[in-house]
Amino acid sequence: MNRFRELIAYYSKYLRSMKLWLFMGIVIIGVVPCIVLSKILPRTYVKRAIDVRISDVTNQLHIISDHLITVNFLQVSSSEVIDAELAQLSNLYDGRILIIDSGLRIIKDTYSISQNKTIISPEVIRGLRGETISSYNDDDGYIEIVVPIVETLTGADGENIQNIRGVMLTSVATDTISATTERLRDVSDLVTYLAAIFVVVVAYLLCIVLTKPLKILTAAISDVKEGYTSEPVMVRDYLETERISEAFNTVYNRMKLLDDSRQEFVSNVSHELKTPMTSMKVLADSLLVDESTPPELYREFMEDITKEIDRENKIISDLLSLVKMDKTSAELTITQVDINALIELVLKRLRPIARKKDVELEFVSMRAVNASVDEVKISQIVTNLVDNAIKYNREQGWVTVTLDADHQYFTIEVKDSGMGIPEDSIGHIYERFYRVDKSHSREIGGTGLGLAITRSAILMHRGTINVESKPDEGTTFTVRIPIVYIVD
Ligand code: ADP
Repeated sequence: MNRFRELIAYYSKYLRSMKLWLFMGIVIIGVVPCIVLSKILPRTYVKRAIDVRISDVTNQLHIISDHLITVNFLQVSSSEVIDAELAQLSNLYDGRILIIDSGLRIIKDTYSISQNKTIISPEVIRGLRGETISSYNDDDGYIEIVVPIVETLTGADGENIQNIRGVMLTSVATDTISATTERLRDVSDLVTYLAAIFVVVVAYLLCIVLTKPLKILTAAISDVKEGYTSEPVMVRDYLETERISEAFNTVYNRMKLLDDSRQEFVSNVSHELKTPMTSMKVLADSLLVDESTPPELYREFMEDITKEIDRENKIISDLLSLVKMDKTSAELTITQVDINALIELVLKRLRPIARKKDVELEFVSMRAVNASVDEVKISQIVTNLVDNAIKYNREQGWVTVTLDADHQYFTIEVKDSGMGIPEDSIGHIYERFYRVDKSHSREIGGTGLGLAITRSAILMHRGTINVESKPDEGTTFTVRIPIVYIVD
């Protein structure tokens, strides 16, 4: 039972095949009209042929009925002319003709079977009332026609008086019509079979041709998936396949970019983590090799090793901050924060470093700002920007932090009189591990991660960061953050 279900599940997937639906669609559209036509055509022919036959015979009967009156056949019951006409008619249509007088007596039967007998049938009686009746018996294959024999007299007032003198009752065989219909049916059946075969073959070929671009597209995508080709996928046969190709290429390029940047990140991380390790190893080895190292040199080396450990620590903690912010689930702890107090606190912490470099640190507050933000992250943003402004400043330089706000955003501007950033580097400063001058940044304890962390924290607050810089004149970073945190 389970095996049976598995089989059904396996084959039912083919029911979703576009090829199959296309094939069935074309076959139905092609074959159904053929079948309908092959059924309708013979039927239409039969109906038309019977109508024509009835009309022909009725006309003939009307002519003969006029002649019957002319030769007064109903009285004399014999006339060579009439006999000849009747014989011709019955031969022509393979029919039997009865002439019945108004007393329901058969005065002439071309088969000579019922001569002088009385006939009572509803059709005859209706005929005697002046009706012309025709009916077709499909089962036995004959047409029956009743035509009244009408004598037109002129009355005393000159008006025409119709006098029904009898009826002519005729049955005409329809064998020839049936034979033609049979033939027609055979031919139309044959044509239908041939058309059906033709349609099935054409449908099959069309399906293959029409779905070929999709097959090519699938193959091209599979090739890319397996890494066989770096060529972009492009199947232009249909607008749809072109759009799928374009969409695929966009996704593919984005994935490639992500993969490349991930690889670059990993190699950067390894390199950055290895550098302090190598220094430490060199320092430790040199101490180990020389057993008679004087204590002062020992101490100096140990101080260097401690510096490298601090550096390693900084890189790792910066990396952890970044990774935490990269996670989609990263959450902010939003509280109402006095931004003025927050900046004051950060500057207070950084003032000793600024003093060491003889850099003047100033805070200009345009107004009191209270915002719903993540306090730790905003502190981190301000610290990184001011720390950079001090680090990349000149001796006796200055740093000004300005806080302002409108009804929607608060703005923190960090302006320095430092070395500035070259124009071609400005686009890269937010990249992880990017440093304009690697050795200088290392010397002053930079990891190249500060601005990347800053930018991520700002983006998490749905804010923006801009930089304007002129080499040897200074740099201004402007951060804009919504006062009220925007929830998705
Ligand atoms: P780092 O840890 O090296 O400071 P950041 O990501 O904070 O790394 O900054 C990246 C690079 O941008 C720095 O190495 C430096 O070259 C440049 N930079 C950042 N801030 C300034 C500034 N205020 N003045 C000049 N250059 C700066």
